[in-house]
Amino acid sequence: MSELTEQASLEKELADLRQRLQQYSYEYYVLDQPSVPDAEYDRLFERLQQIEEEHPALVSDSSPTRKVGAPPAGAFATVTHEVPMLSLDNAFDETSMNAFLQRIEERLQTRPVAWCAEPKLDGAAVSILYEDGKLVQAATRGDGYKGENITSNVRTIRNVPLQLRGDFPQRLEVRGEVFMPLAGFEKFNEKARQQGDKVFANPRNAAAGSLRQLDSRITAQRPLQFYAYAMGQVEPQRQLDDDSHYQRLLQLKKWGLPVCPQTRRLSDSKDCEAYYKKLGEERAGLPYEIDGVVFKVDAIEGQQQLGFVSRAPRWAIAYKFPAQEQLTWLRGVDFQV
Ligand code: NAD
Repeated sequence: MSELTEQASLEKELADLRQRLQQYSYEYYVLDQPSVPDAEYDRLFERLQQIEEEHPALVSDSSPTRKVGAPPAGAFATVTHEVPMLSLDNAFDETSMNAFLQRIEERLQTRPVAWCAEPKLDGAAVSILYEDGKLVQAATRGDGYKGENITSNVRTIRNVPLQLRGDFPQRLEVRGEVFMPLAGFEKFNEKARQQGDKVFANPRNAAAGSLRQLDSRITAQRPLQFYAYAMGQVEPQRQLDDDSHYQRLLQLKKWGLPVCPQTRRLSDSKDCEAYYKKLGEERAGLPYEIDGVVFKVDAIEGQQQLGFVSRAPRWAIAYKFPAQEQLTWLRGVDFQV
């Protein structure tokens, strides 16, 4: 192939990949109705990333590799995230995970690096704001900068406190995942099947679709749960008594917020693989669906030093488990809208 034809075919592949990924993102984030399995989306995304890395001149700011989620839908009021809600970079195998760990140790010039290991819950990210201990606002991640105001829906989730406990800060933004536990998901689909209604393709879809209902009485009937995994804005900051991410999660627990019980602090990068393997073995017995492990640099100072790239923090990674979803897909289930 001549150089010119090669360039033209690469540009064509790039345009095709971007167009397909944009369409799939719209179906997934806006309609809550994906048309392809996640593994297929991930495969196309990785290919796009590879081309952009090899040909930096072809990178564009509007590429799906630079974006988070999708802008808020018009049906909801918009909430601006003062601290952006970003996505996560992925590792799909031990080699890329080890390369990530090594990169962090080199950048921080510290060894050992301590990590906070958390199951990667398969649901939808939300931001919940408390003022004077009262839940005053909740929002979806949206495109990371603007989300949808879903306060009345989040208020219906049983384990989300409407009032914090103890010595909480005046203003506290909590971030975490809303998910549908497997037992509730199966029961819900069974009932829908019996009534001849449409069923959800998977618990992630069920959680995202339930959260974005216009009538909160419908959300209230859905078996949703929440686990907190980060703090957003906190005022005044002096009420944070530790500079470790793990300790901050424990602090959230003291204020009454639920935190995933499998969360652990690991004192060395060497422990990450063992945690990943162990959770992988426990995965089938967990009451909720997870699709990997999120490893976060535990020291807040280290997180600040590493900072962010366009769509994800440099200090965290989602180490994914092999896809299970293909099975659900092959069963050819219908979707709940
Ligand atoms: P992601 O799921 O890859 O990772 C970021 C998200 O992980 C966060 O926003 C948060 O919601 C969640 N999360 C769960 N536990 C967490 C924890 N402990 N700490 C921090 N975050 C945690 O995010 P994404 O950017 O929403 O989506 C990309 C993925 O979505 C792709 O890998 C793909 O599998 C899927 N997707 C699929 C389609 C499709 O058509 N099938 C389309 C778009 C995206």
